[in-house]
Amino acid sequence: MDAKKVHPETVAAQALGWVDERTRAITPPIHVSSTYLRDPDNQYRSGRVYARADNPAFDQAEAVLCALERGAQAALFASGMAAATAVFQALSPGDHVLAPKVMYWSLRNWLMGFASHWGLQVELIEMTDPAAMRAAIRPGQTKLVWIETPANPLWTVTDIAETAGIAHAAGAVLAVDSTVATPVLTLPLTLGADLVMHAATKYLNGHSDLIAGVLVTREDNELWQRIRKVRAQLGGTLGSFESWLLLRGMRTLHLRVHAACTSAQRIAEHFAAHPLVEAVLYPGLPGAPGHAVAARQMKGGFGGMMSIRAKGGEAAAIAVAANTELWKRATSLGGTESLIEHRASVEGAGTPAPPDLLRLSVGIEHADDLIADLEQALRRAHA
Ligand SMILES: *Cc1c(COP(=O)(O)O)cnc(C)c1O
Repeated sequence: MDAKKVHPETVAAQALGWVDERTRAITPPIHVSSTYLRDPDNQYRSGRVYARADNPAFDQAEAVLCALERGAQAALFASGMAAATAVFQALSPGDHVLAPKVMYWSLRNWLMGFASHWGLQVELIEMTDPAAMRAAIRPGQTKLVWIETPANPLWTVTDIAETAGIAHAAGAVLAVDSTVATPVLTLPLTLGADLVMHAATKYLNGHSDLIAGVLVTREDNELWQRIRKVRAQLGGTLGSFESWLLLRGMRTLHLRVHAACTSAQRIAEHFAAHPLVEAVLYPGLPGAPGHAVAARQMKGGFGGMMSIRAKGGEAAAIAVAANTELWKRATSLGGTESLIEHRASVEGAGTPAPPDLLRLSVGIEHADDLIADLEQALRRAHA
């Protein structure tokens, strides 16, 4: 299949049309070998030596992700965190990096803890404000700008093209955590980003039964080779079965993401003016601060993630989550089942999440059922 001649839905549904030449199987086998045979003349003509560095189980999933993101190369990792931290570990102690104040909590913790201790100069800024970024970036010294859009858990939006322009003018690389947008809605590499990262745990796999991560690069360059070396040496490598599961999950990516977006838009509009709701945070609402930028860089929907601030503060929010029946009280996102989470309880001290905030991951159930369940939970929380 020529990925340039067909739509991304077709690329994903057929996993690039792969057929096993030997058996005619239309789904790939699971390669589990940890090691590869050396040729009698002492060469490794297969190009593979040992499965910590590389594994044929990655080939198909990486090729599909490359095609979907329009990148040059992709690399699977054992988790989203393994993928994200590989980018920072490919830098050198002393390098200056910019990251957002509002971002995925575990990565922010790692940046402020391990990465800072290790010598990276990590500066957290208001990434949605280009003026703040222009003021903070240090030409020649800032090596990486890391953004997440829409960003956990307030779903703030960063303009990828504008940020890429500012980063490149200063000689820095732009990496985008696009987990929430998915390649269905946003293509950061076509907007000027150099690297795109996904927690494949979330929408890409989509079934809450796998931890995985991926990086895709716009070009094969020195930084990319350092990143690949981090994976091979530190061993944050995905397992064979997990690679196979991810490829299977991605076959339905477009259907799932479009279903979640459609329901999320309806749910956001339904609760936006609700008497028991303080505010709905969702970039698809015309009044949302990032709506104009999101409308420009997200195509076909605004994602399946939103937050609701409950009237009555923290206790009311926790009571709403306690009273949902369909919405499952759990962390994570991007699965077929809808999840609800009191975010401040997870993030703890220093969180930008207000105490009354409930994070919602909209699944692919019927939107009417999801709305009815939240309605009854809100009523019972206030009874
Ligand atoms: C889940 C998540 C991660 C981390 O991925 P893991 O697979 O849990 O390590 C990073 N960024 C975002 C936006 C996420 O939602």
